[in-house]
Amino acid sequence: MKYGVNELGYYGDFGGAYIPEMLYPNIEELRQQYLKITAEPEFIAEFDQLLKDYVGRPSPLYLAKRFSERYGANIFFKREDLNHTGSHKINNAIGQILLAQRLGKKRIIAETGAGQHGVATATVCALMGIECVVYMGEVDMERQAPNVARMKMLGATVVPAISGSKTLKDATNEAMRDWINNPVDTHYIIGSVVGPYPYPEMVARFQSIISLEAKKQLLEQTGKDLPEYVIACVGGGSNAMGMFYHFLDDEDVKLIAVEAAGKGVDSGHSAATSVLGCEGILHGSRTILMQTNDGQVIEPYSISAGLDYPGIGPQHAHLHKIKRAQYVSITDDEALQAGLLCSQLEGIIPAIETAHALAHLERMKFNPGDNVIICISGRGDKDLTTYINYFGF
Ligand SMILES: *Cc1c(COP(=O)(O)O)cnc(C)c1O
Repeated sequence: MKYGVNELGYYGDFGGAYIPEMLYPNIEELRQQYLKITAEPEFIAEFDQLLKDYVGRPSPLYLAKRFSERYGANIFFKREDLNHTGSHKINNAIGQILLAQRLGKKRIIAETGAGQHGVATATVCALMGIECVVYMGEVDMERQAPNVARMKMLGATVVPAISGSKTLKDATNEAMRDWINNPVDTHYIIGSVVGPYPYPEMVARFQSIISLEAKKQLLEQTGKDLPEYVIACVGGGSNAMGMFYHFLDDEDVKLIAVEAAGKGVDSGHSAATSVLGCEGILHGSRTILMQTNDGQVIEPYSISAGLDYPGIGPQHAHLHKIKRAQYVSITDDEALQAGLLCSQLEGIIPAIETAHALAHLERMKFNPGDNVIICISGRGDKDLTTYINYFGF
């Protein structure tokens, strides 16, 4: 595959595994085993069955009529918001827990920012009866108290990260440290298409179910399997990679990735990595990230906790550099307005992350009959307080 990973774990100039020597055995075990294990018929059968009966897949491809009228094209929503636990993150968590079991792991660790990935991980650990430890920045634990409670109710231990800015990157450091200290019995479930190879590739494959289904569903509904546009929001980039995956080689399909501009790209409060970032190393891979001239990671900002990440996955960095996908950014205000519009035109309250992708429609010009698929990455229940505070309901 032209846009896929090479044998060394690189997408063009990006990717690889830049890890401390002590993590090498863990990463090497994963690299050697994951393709073999995930290709076993018994693995595939269990993965497919859990996606169907536990997650509720296939998620519908819904022709949004009032959005279509407004924008003058056929706007299809790929409904990941209808998944169990409310977003696409469960697809990857299921895949990785099945892999961890087959690797003989007895304990799962994860990092989480907003808590969505932590909840998905705690969920699959409860499902399988495996011990779960989630690292979360102390500041994030205060901001996202309901998700902390959810993880505890599911039986997970939530450990506060109290170093640095006490947010996601500090939680990631703590999780890495834990893994170094427990290399034999523990698997680290990373929540997006980031981290050292093979994580970005593995997570993209688990999420690629999104575009596999969408292609088939579009064909059934329109007689064509290729849309003109595919749009998704990007934090680390896992819902977007899942949504793009089976369209990458179809060069006529325009891929659009939407980042969070926060208060504006030039405001100093942004997470628009493709505009503000440059090449460097983040969380074990070579990618594009927001950093100072002397290489310190810049704290990102977005009103949506899921897009508040200082980098993008290495495959996105590659797709950006070679211009296979277009990277755009949307402000907090634009996203919140789009979230309101979607609620009132379609009766669907989207996650604020997803609302960024929806907001980009306002800037596009379509030809009549164009087919557009947007990944509705998650539902907005978790964001109600933010919506309420903004609109004053
Ligand atoms: C976590 C999250 C995102 C961002 O993560 P990606 O890896 O970029 O997909 C987007 N939408 C929702 C609903 C999320 O929970």
